[in-house]
Amino acid sequence: MTTPQTRTGIVWEYAPAPESSAHVRLRGSYGLFIGGEFRDPLDGTRVATVNPATEEPIAEVAFAGPADLRAAVEAARAAQPGWAGLPALDRGKYLFRIARLIQERARELAVVESMDGGKPVRESRDVDIPLAAAHFFHYAGWADKLSYGVGGREVAPLGVAAQIVPWNFPLLMAAWKLAPALACGNTAVLKPAETTPLTALLLAEICQEAELPEGVMAIVPGDGRTGAALVREPGIDKVAFTGSTAVGKDIQAALAGRAVPLTLELGGKSANVVFEDAALDQAVEGIVNGIFFNQGHVCCAGSRLLIQESVAEQVIAKLWARMGRLRVGDPLDKNTDVGAINSREQLERIEELVSAGEGEGAVRRSVACELPERGYWFAPTLFTEVAPAHRIAVEEIFGPVVSVLTFRTQAEAIQKANASPYGLAAGVWTDKGAKAFEVASALQAGVVWQNTYNRFDPSAAFGGYKESGFGREGGPAGLRPYLRVS
Ligand code: NAD
Repeated sequence: MTTPQTRTGIVWEYAPAPESSAHVRLRGSYGLFIGGEFRDPLDGTRVATVNPATEEPIAEVAFAGPADLRAAVEAARAAQPGWAGLPALDRGKYLFRIARLIQERARELAVVESMDGGKPVRESRDVDIPLAAAHFFHYAGWADKLSYGVGGREVAPLGVAAQIVPWNFPLLMAAWKLAPALACGNTAVLKPAETTPLTALLLAEICQEAELPEGVMAIVPGDGRTGAALVREPGIDKVAFTGSTAVGKDIQAALAGRAVPLTLELGGKSANVVFEDAALDQAVEGIVNGIFFNQGHVCCAGSRLLIQESVAEQVIAKLWARMGRLRVGDPLDKNTDVGAINSREQLERIEELVSAGEGEGAVRRSVACELPERGYWFAPTLFTEVAPAHRIAVEEIFGPVVSVLTFRTQAEAIQKANASPYGLAAGVWTDKGAKAFEVASALQAGVVWQNTYNRFDPSAAFGGYKESGFGREGGPAGLRPYLRVS
């Protein structure tokens, strides 16, 4: 790490503050969680899950094959009428119990999430795990009030929900999907991402501890082939997918002609718009949080930074100085701001797009920090002189890389922010309340943050427009995709 220049000349060095992993109770090997028990795969395989910060294997995990998926769907189908037939208050109690058990095992879940995925433990401890518990608490409360969530109409569950999640927020994305599905009386078969299956498997243990009826929730790790087979299973009644736009399109095509409702939470290239009247130091903190949170592996990351020309130089100088103070390294160190890139493949994807940015003529600045010798790392990076047509201004990089564009007027800011095939999120930084609302209502994005970024709450709906997908997760809107409403 470079020695930061400070206003006072005093440099505060940090001592290492490693979080212990001694309390973590991981097994050497995990089966598939089907029918309330861990089973050996029938026709699947076993794969080691690797710590991206060390490249060391953590545990062996079963990946489901087609026969395993059939068994999981059959178990979920058999359990569904009983689950839907429970008094709604009792379904809520199970979810409440799961939420409490997540809280009880929060420290362990946070450490495992950081070991398996590379994210700083400060984030898994303060964001991922508390929010996952909060989603179960939230939907526990909805279980006996479903019709109030849909305007007082009659509701019924859909049946068996097939759910596929990505690797960037493994337990949190699982909670976003499982909690509303179960609250509505559906049963669920969830496929975690291939690089981050562990916290979902710990959630399976939590379900056992909560005595969730057998078959109500199945956890079937696997790669893209497992996901592709799951959405093609004849016994499913609903598909909910979070991941890339390319895979979302493939799933949509696979479901064509079938009466299986679909929700897609896909990629993004979200604009973070800074006006000249904004509190600039506060905006810089928001920009950092918007793009470097979780190494930029965030679907709604503020990866297109639009700055009003009159303050662009000033904001870029402040941002660059702030970036020099980011602590990059061991995800289990409590001082770390930017952890490991999730996988070698993702690192290669980032490197490829960054070289494309340089090749197209944008100016790259990467923080000069010491990166560990093993593992997958990418230094926080800023691109200036970016043209709207450059690949780094259009494509999702999904890494700690921000592309800066400028604008002169409010109209130009709106036009540039909306010039994207995506429409997931956006940020607006201004001191003027009326301007913030005016701009926010003109932006084509599912979520618009004002003078903040990357804030999440289980009671708030989240989802996209355009190629960022359709359907909403969170709040009462998140019940709708799991209900038949008459
Ligand atoms: P990905 O689409 O490659 O994988 C996501 C999941 O889909 C994984 O579990 C994977 O195994 C599975 N999968 C892969 N191919 C499949 C197929 N053909 N059929 C069914 N399932 C398949 O995405 P990723 O690289 O793991 O995740 C990053 C992407 O996810 C980014 O584009 C990001 O923006 C998006 N994302 C969106 C949201 C949101 O809420 N909108 C949230 C998080 C991530």
